[in-house]
Amino acid sequence: MAAKEKYPEPTYLEYGFGELEYDVIKKELCCYCGNCIAFCPKIDKQENRPELIDYDPLCGLCYAYCPRTMLDMPTMEKKIFERVRKEDEPLGIYKKASSARIARSDVQGKAQDGGVVTALLIQALESGVIDCAVVTGRDEKWRTVPKVATTAEEIASAAGTKYTITPSVTGVQMAIDQGFKKIGFVGTPCQIQALRKVQLLDEPYQFGQDRIALLVGLFCMENFEYEQLFPKLVQGTFGLKPEDVDKFEIQKGMFRVLSGDKVKEIPIDQTDEYVWKGCGPCFDFAAELADISVGSVGSKSGWSTVLPRTDAGAQIYESALAAGSIEEGAVSEKGLALAGRLAKGKEERFSTKTAELLSQGVPVNIRR
Ligand SMILES: Cc1cc2nc3c(=O)[nH]c(=O)nc-3n(C[C@H](O)[C@H](O)[C@H](O)COP(=O)(O)OP(=O)(O)OC[C@H]3O[C@@H](n4cnc5c(N)ncnc54)[C@H](O)[C@@H]3O)c2cc1C
Repeated sequence: MAAKEKYPEPTYLEYGFGELEYDVIKKELCCYCGNCIAFCPKIDKQENRPELIDYDPLCGLCYAYCPRTMLDMPTMEKKIFERVRKEDEPLGIYKKASSARIARSDVQGKAQDGGVVTALLIQALESGVIDCAVVTGRDEKWRTVPKVATTAEEIASAAGTKYTITPSVTGVQMAIDQGFKKIGFVGTPCQIQALRKVQLLDEPYQFGQDRIALLVGLFCMENFEYEQLFPKLVQGTFGLKPEDVDKFEIQKGMFRVLSGDKVKEIPIDQTDEYVWKGCGPCFDFAAELADISVGSVGSKSGWSTVLPRTDAGAQIYESALAAGSIEEGAVSEKGLALAGRLAKGKEERFSTKTAELLSQGVPVNIRR
C-alpha cells in the first residue's frame, strides 16, 4: 500500500452521532457494517442499528468512518493500488483472476462455494501473516455471530454464507481488545470499505487500526434482514424452521434454501421485501478495496472466483497454492464477463438510487 497521505476531503471532525443518525441511519442508508460500534465506545447496537448509549463527545469519528457518509474511491484506490480504476474494470483493480477450491475435503462440503476464503484465512494464520481471523459464524437459528478465530478449526467452522446483515466489523474491535496484532478479516464490500476508511483516513485517533493485516472481500449484490427473511420467507412461505436449514444459496437467478433433501426456492427478483434497505446506495459488487476478493459467480459449482488485488492478497493466494491448500483452475472469459455484468448492474442500481436520494435532499457523498 502507498504511504499514508493526508486525506484531501473534509474529515467531519466537528460532527457527532446526531449527524450520523440524521444523514445515514434515519435515511435508511446504514449498511450496519458495525464500524461506528466497533471504534466508538459510546455507540452500541440496538435492534439492528447503531445507537448512542453515552454522552456524545462530538469527536466526529463515527461520521468520518461511516462508509455511507463519504466514500472517495479514487483517493482510496490511489493509496491502495497506486492508480485509479479504469472504466473498463467493472470488478475493480486486480492482479489476476482464477477459479479455485480448498483441498481439504472435510471443508468442501461445508463451505459456500470453493472454500477458498476458509483456505486463505487458514493459510494466513498458519504462515504467521495474521494471528487471528475475524469471521462471521452463526447459531443454530442462523443468527450471525462475529468471532475472533485463532485456530484452523474455528475458521472452518464459520464457513458458509449467512445471507443476513451483520455488524461483523465489531469483531475487529474484539480482536484489538484481546491484544491481537495481525488481524485478518473477511466481509462484504461495505465492511471492507469501512475498514479501509479506518486504515486510510488521517484522523488523530490511534486505536489499533495498524493491526489490520489482511482484508478478504466477498462478492455481494445485496444482503437481507434476518427479521424479514426468516419469519416471512423461510418460516412463512417455505414452512421451514431456521434450525432445519442446512444452506442458503443464490444460483441461476433463484434464492434457494436447502433443508435435508428439500430445496425451496424463489426467483431472486421476488426477494426485494427482505433486502436490507441500506444496501440500496452501494455500487461495489466485488469488494474492490479488499486485498483479495472471492465470489461464486464466474466459476462452476463447488469452486470460487478469486481476484487477488494487492501484494498482500497475491502473496497469501500464491502461498496457499504452493502449500497445496487450494487447487487452481482457469476462470472462463464467459464467467468473468458475467461477473462484470452483475457489477455494472449493481452500479446502475446505485446511480438510480443516488439520483432519487439527491432529489430528496439526502447528502450522498460518494465519489466513484
Ligand atoms: C451477503 C452476501 C451476499 C453475497 N452475494 C454474492 C453474489 O451476489 N454473487 C457472488 O458471486 N457471491 C456472493 N457472495 C459470496 C459467496 O456467497 C461466498 O461467500 C464466496 O463465494 C466465498 O465462498 P467460499 O466457499 O470461498 O467461502 P467459505 O470458505 O464458505 O467462507 C465464507 C466466509 O464468509 C464469511 N461470511 C459469511 N456470511 C457473512 C456475512 N453475512 N457477512 C460477512 N461475512 C460473512 C464467513 O466468515 C466465512 O469465513 C455473497 C456473500 C454474502 C455474505
